[in-house]
Amino acid sequence: MYQEVILDHYKNPHGRGLRDGDAEVHHVNPTCGDEITLRVKYEGTTISDVSYEGQGCSISQASASVLNDLLVGKDLAEAQRIQETFLELMQSKGRVEPDEEMEEVLEDAVAFAGVSKYPARVKCALLSWMAWKDATAQALQDAGAEPGRTTA
Ligand code: ZN
Repeated sequence: MYQEVILDHYKNPHGRGLRDGDAEVHHVNPTCGDEITLRVKYEGTTISDVSYEGQGCSISQASASVLNDLLVGKDLAEAQRIQETFLELMQSKGRVEPDEEMEEVLEDAVAFAGVSKYPARVKCALLSWMAWKDATAQALQDAGAEPGRTTA
């Protein structure tokens, strides 16, 4: 069942394509050959868009689609909680069995639980999430330390 969720996102990626953004990053996973270019757009502290283009294995590409689903429209603090929960699951080496609370936070991303048993594939699943974190840091830095503050 989990495999189907991943394959479905791979075949029908959500929000794919590059659109206007506040920051852009390009991340690669050399061990598998996955690549992603990702842009984030913020309105204050709300994520108004995460757009991306990428190539590589089904896990890396499906993960970017799930990220788009989960993070667009969320406030930064909520998005960070989701990212940290996903990171915890992916670094669990298969020891964490997602409970109801985790499923509520991660939605389709719980489908990657089985991937956490395979260290080489964990990097595939985390590629877009690391890119998002990096792009967010850049976007917020460019916007100034205080949210909503305009630079002269
Ligand atoms: Zn991969």
